[in-house]
Amino acid sequence: MLRTSINSISRFNKIMNLESFHLKSKLKRKENKKFFRHLKKINSKKLDQTIHYLHNNEFECTDCLKCANCCKTTGPLFTDRDISRISKFLKIKPSLFADKFLKVDEDHDYVLKTLPCSFLLEDNRCSIYDVRPKACREFPHTDRIKQKQLLSLTQKNTEVCPAVFNIIENLKKELK
Ligand code: SF4
Ligand code: SF4
Repeated sequence: MLRTSINSISRFNKIMNLESFHLKSKLKRKENKKFFRHLKKINSKKLDQTIHYLHNNEFECTDCLKCANCCKTTGPLFTDRDISRISKFLKIKPSLFADKFLKVDEDHDYVLKTLPCSFLLEDNRCSIYDVRPKACREFPHTDRIKQKQLLSLTQKNTEVCPAVFNIIENLKKELK
């Protein structure tokens, strides 16, 4: 989430229209479900190479600061290390940080109490960018190895992240 550094200058040649993205991604839900089933049969190495290539292309022309949909609609998990690092940065006790901002979900993980994320600023920057949770740093995970193990997450993210949506649409063309 907001992986683009505040100071970085990104090329951005796509209009980030979240409303049309939400509609478009929902309309593709059935098709994507079928496609992700097909992906389970693809060679892991080939899948990683192709997705990483498409990820790099996509993020070369994506400016997360014009989107922030992940920070607005889904929250990261907060590990104990995340909580300790962020509360230190905020100069508050970890227990106070957890009480104020977090709740425990059905999987017993710490997640945000409210969305959009409390640390998202009006201009879509992250107010705790340098110490943000690991899950935020890694989102949307399309540059990680072993993509095959992440297929259900990536499928879900086609409806959260416009960049992932495009990566998967391009993957369909690559694997045709
Ligand atoms: S901490 Fe919040 S605002 Fe910052 S990147 Fe994560 S979800 Fe976005
Ligand atoms: S949803 Fe995707 S494109 Fe939008 S800010 Fe998050 S990572 Fe960037």
